[in-house]
Amino acid sequence: MQGMGYVAIALGFAFAGGIVGRIKGSSFFLWFLISGLVPVFGLLAAIFYRYDSRELRRVCPTCGAVLKLHDAKCLRCGTELEFPDRPVVSEEAMRGRVA
Ligand SMILES: [Zn+2]
Repeated sequence: MQGMGYVAIALGFAFAGGIVGRIKGSSFFLWFLISGLVPVFGLLAAIFYRYDSRELRRVCPTCGAVLKLHDAKCLRCGTELEFPDRPVVSEEAMRGRVA
């Protein structure tokens, strides 16, 4: 019955990950699968991914890469970045606008 125990634990993590993913506006099913396949890390990924998506973002004026607000230099093209002179939105807000 050890297999059944693992399945029960994996299902528990799968539901938790799915709910976290759903709350953050992503797919319940996607995070259900991820958290079920890699129970502990899947759930952690769902939690941290959500946190990360709430951070403010900015767009590099040179190459268009999406960067974190506090980045002083573009990670892709190396452009020195001044403090943004136009409104910056979170990744989550950007997604909401597209949908
Ligand atoms: Zn750049």
